[in-house]
Amino acid sequence: RHKEKWAATAPRIPATRLALHHFDASYSPQLGERWPAVRAALLCEQKYGALLNSFASADHVAQELELHNAADFISEAARKAQSLLQGSEVGVEKGESVPQEGHGGGRTVTPAGTPTPPPPPAPIGSNIKCYTFPRGDITRFRPAWPDSLGLLSYYLMDAASLLPVLALNVQPDDFVLDLCAAPGGKTLALLQTGACGHLAANDVSVSRTKRLYQILSSYVPKNVREAVSVTSYDGRDWAELEGGTFHKVLVDVPCTTDRHSVMETDNNIFHRRRTKERQMLPMLQLQLLISGILATKPGGDVVYSTCSLSPLQNEYVIERAIEIAETQFNITTHAEDLSHFRTLFQDTFSFSSDCRLGELVLPHLTANFGPIYFCKLHRA
Ligand code: SAM
Repeated sequence: RHKEKWAATAPRIPATRLALHHFDASYSPQLGERWPAVRAALLCEQKYGALLNSFASADHVAQELELHNAADFISEAARKAQSLLQGSEVGVEKGESVPQEGHGGGRTVTPAGTPTPPPPPAPIGSNIKCYTFPRGDITRFRPAWPDSLGLLSYYLMDAASLLPVLALNVQPDDFVLDLCAAPGGKTLALLQTGACGHLAANDVSVSRTKRLYQILSSYVPKNVREAVSVTSYDGRDWAELEGGTFHKVLVDVPCTTDRHSVMETDNNIFHRRRTKERQMLPMLQLQLLISGILATKPGGDVVYSTCSLSPLQNEYVIERAIEIAETQFNITTHAEDLSHFRTLFQDTFSFSSDCRLGELVLPHLTANFGPIYFCKLHRA
């Protein structure tokens, strides 16, 4: 009874404020002098990208977006990759290590001891198109409109959250699993590749899975969406259902959703009653990632992603998962070098340069996307 009285009279600190205090304490030492700028960006309006819907018949959409000075950042990166491949840019000459996807990182040294030039970056082979306004341009996109069949022209999302999908590098006929899929932005992006042989989209939350269905029905024709299997299992149990069957697995875990937590009171993980749940997040993330690794075929890939800046939810989860996969399941995985993403997408996003594993997009006032962390594991 005493506790109840205390709870009723204690000053209520909003969850958004608690989140900011928490981030000041943990990210200030982590990011040093960059934290004030990242903090300011987190507290300002976020920037969106318009993921073009290739299923909608609206040829003029791209032209209209270009007329307003937006550009498809993915084809820009592909052009950059191409020109780097042709050796016409200076990055490689300067000695930056920009390895090809799947070929590890670092510089190679010839027997004579002379360093060989690093391999050029892999081209971004993707059908995904996403328009963004240039750095410093804070124009908003107008809401998407339907085509004659009722399919919407584009989906507005944090453009940086396409990077985990691009890192997955879906190849024609790949079996793909999206383990934590709702509300479905990345599922939609996976479908835009046009390459999924089969797509399984799962999310434990039934209500959020309903939003996934809504997105599918607003953007994807019936024949395509009927080929997507949508389920609501606890992702931690996936291996018991369908272990070792997917070429590509996306594990986009629940996290402290840093931007949401400092801005929105609703559904805030920093609410006092959710303290335990928040503290247990790294454990849940680890379990989901291990489940994702177990769901992958030998030779397949897993991409892990969060929208948090916290190393405890990012690199530490990766390190622990690699260790547990090896010791408890005899599965060898290695984290791929994704530094070429930094090279190719630096005009659109601000990247952190000090991730030990994976890549991190830092919010910045001139490019207010993210935070997004992503890391790719290859299963041997
Ligand atoms: N990938 C989604 C997208 O791009 O729209 C966002 C996913 S969100 C970051 C994380 C999701 O994980 C939430 O929808 C949540 O319901 C789901 N989730 C939480 N615990 C889970 C579990 N044990 N198994 C599967 N999904 C889970």
